[in-house]
Amino acid sequence: MFADVIVDIQHEKLDKIFQYRIPERLEGELQPGMEVIVPFGKASRKTKGYVTAVSETCDYDLSKVKEIEDISRQGVAIEAKLIALAAWMKEHYGGTMIQALKTVLPIRQKENARVKRRLRLLLTEEEGKAKLQFYLEKNQKARARLMAALLDEPVLEYELVTKKLNITLTVIRALEEQGVLALEEERVYRNPVKETGQAQSEIVFTEEQKNAVSRFRQDYREGRRNTYLLYGVTGSGKTEVYMEMIRTVVDMGKQAIVLIPEIALTYQTVMRFYRCFGDRVSIMNSRLSPGERYDQMMRAKAGEVDVMIGPRSALFTPFPDLGLIVIDEEHEPTYKSEQAPRYHARETAVKRAQMEGAGVVLGSATPSLEAMYRARRGEYVLLEMKNRSRMQKLPQVEIVDLRQEMREGSRSVLSRRLKELMADRLEKKEQIMLFLNRRGYSGFISCRECGHVVKCPHCSVSLSVHRDGRMVCHYCGYTQHKAVVCPECGSRHIGEFRAGTQQIEDIVRELFPAARVLRMDMDTTRQKDSYEKILSAFANEEADILVGTQMIVKGHDFPNVTLVGVLAADMSLYTDDYRSGERTFQLLTQAAGRAGRGERQGQVVIQTYSPEHYAVVTAAAQDYGAFYEEEIRYRELMGYPPAENLLAVLVSCGDEELLERGCHYLKEYALRVSRRTKAAVIGPASPGVDKIKDIYRRVLYIKAPEYDTLTGIKDRLEQYIDMNAGFDKMRIQFDFNPMGIS
Ligand code: ADP
Ligand code: ZN
Ligand code: ZN
Repeated sequence: MFADVIVDIQHEKLDKIFQYRIPERLEGELQPGMEVIVPFGKASRKTKGYVTAVSETCDYDLSKVKEIEDISRQGVAIEAKLIALAAWMKEHYGGTMIQALKTVLPIRQKENARVKRRLRLLLTEEEGKAKLQFYLEKNQKARARLMAALLDEPVLEYELVTKKLNITLTVIRALEEQGVLALEEERVYRNPVKETGQAQSEIVFTEEQKNAVSRFRQDYREGRRNTYLLYGVTGSGKTEVYMEMIRTVVDMGKQAIVLIPEIALTYQTVMRFYRCFGDRVSIMNSRLSPGERYDQMMRAKAGEVDVMIGPRSALFTPFPDLGLIVIDEEHEPTYKSEQAPRYHARETAVKRAQMEGAGVVLGSATPSLEAMYRARRGEYVLLEMKNRSRMQKLPQVEIVDLRQEMREGSRSVLSRRLKELMADRLEKKEQIMLFLNRRGYSGFISCRECGHVVKCPHCSVSLSVHRDGRMVCHYCGYTQHKAVVCPECGSRHIGEFRAGTQQIEDIVRELFPAARVLRMDMDTTRQKDSYEKILSAFANEEADILVGTQMIVKGHDFPNVTLVGVLAADMSLYTDDYRSGERTFQLLTQAAGRAGRGERQGQVVIQTYSPEHYAVVTAAAQDYGAFYEEEIRYRELMGYPPAENLLAVLVSCGDEELLERGCHYLKEYALRVSRRTKAAVIGPASPGVDKIKDIYRRVLYIKAPEYDTLTGIKDRLEQYIDMNAGFDKMRIQFDFNPMGIS
């Protein structure tokens, strides 16, 4: 028997299958997915690897085939089903097979088992009483004490015996040898989800919720496994719908995975699932210890869990009979991995579901262009919920034109209108959230007078300011001198936009000294749990105003918040990225959705220098449909995803000259292999950051209508790189349909 092995060495040239002979003693035990130790290379160094297949024939010269040394006893085996998914990920997203295998196996090391020990009395009551008498006569006090306890209760916890009864292991061992008792051990898995006992108030489903659930249920029971896009406004009750759908699947004996962005995976969310599914719910996140994480995976494998909740990596939970994958907040950029293989959880979930006969539900109040595009083309089934669950009104949104403010002499980061509304809410003891959209913190240049943003003439993205003072396009490399007067209106009030949450907190405290202010940003959430602490303090109304970055727009439901201020809506608008309009629309809509979740209607103030930008206008009108139409037209016009597909080839190298030459050859080759396709090759351009730790970086973009054209080109480029020693000193990564460019 022979095994196909992928060796655990991070080198593109070794990214292939090596065959090994299976020694007789391991035959029968060795399974695909297991971690093994094999001799590798000329010196036959002991190396780890994963078995991807077992066969009876060998494709190589038998005399040269080496033998597997052993199965790695500390390693965790990969599910056979997930090996196939890993192969697809490697093909679809690039990277090596070993990287793909490690991705589908988020926990690779066995962790120490936690065991529970118990003492069990082996004697009858009469025999026991006789023994007790005997110990008392011999004045063996400890033995007598233990015997008496066992006569009361024939099974005792080990901890209780040693701690409460003060009995040593020596005594226990002695009685064990005499056949008086047995010391039993049981492996217990740690369960990180603990009950709180809060009861859930009865919920009567809205018509929209009922319709969504029953469409899913009918399909599912009749064996149709679709991908659904649950597009429901903020507060429409999507989580309740997910739980009902999961219920359908669990009742059929299957399991479900629920992906939630790590930042929104709060205690409250987990408790909602706990109340529905009890301790058959588990979580997987970075706050768990390695032991806890390992245990969750083992519980899932053993069928002790029905629902696994976690961020992106929970997608690879090894369930025996996966029935459903739910992706909440499907539009979140964190669902795309920034490490090879640079997979997107949405597409990978659809693939895994297809391989294992499961369904997929994607949920969002602001669906990604990708998801809506597919839903409109009939690839996904669209389920809509247009109303909030208790028919609360959507918030009322006003736009404040900051150019106008400036012209009228108001230079504060808080507009007059926002200050007025804040004073009103503080008076009424209602809460306020101030949201500073800090993405693209520095970079673009805008005019304070007219709002004009300096853009690339070829790419319709904003130019970025570099430290050397020039403005550069990150897509095509176009460069020009930094503008000192506005090319539109001639004003000298043109420059980089800067402001931070700290400054805003100070200003708010100065203006409203009596108000209690909390701040949430990267600085205040460094410590473990601080994120949840701030949110729950605000939820408990220990503060009047919460100032924060995009972190504050998700996670909690604050019924007493009736005013949301978005301080600089433009900040994310002119980052040099084709997704900036989409990101802005999402952030504004999600921020607005925080207002008026309770009884009273909410109010939202969006402050902006670009009040006429479609992302701002449509977000203020809470009109996703209008936004989508405008945005998809732009993507189609420019050939950006999802209308077309984009492959970024990121090349990095310590030698700048070598890098330029490498990019030149790569581009030439890419042009050659794409000649008969509809692909276009663009660049090399700057990936946003030109140098990281003295490593220079450039990026080539390849655009094509069909995804497969791009995987074809990627394969050819990989071969080319492999055959030319010149690329050995360079690192080349592929990123399909990238989320951002840096
Ligand atoms: P979404 O994820 O769509 O923003 P959630 O599922 O978080 O909405 O629901 C928002 C709030 O409304 C939650 O507190 C939830 O318990 C409540 N809720 C959901 N459905 C109903 C319903 N049918 N009736 C009353 N309250 C509901
Ligand atoms: Zn201007
Ligand atoms: Zn450009």
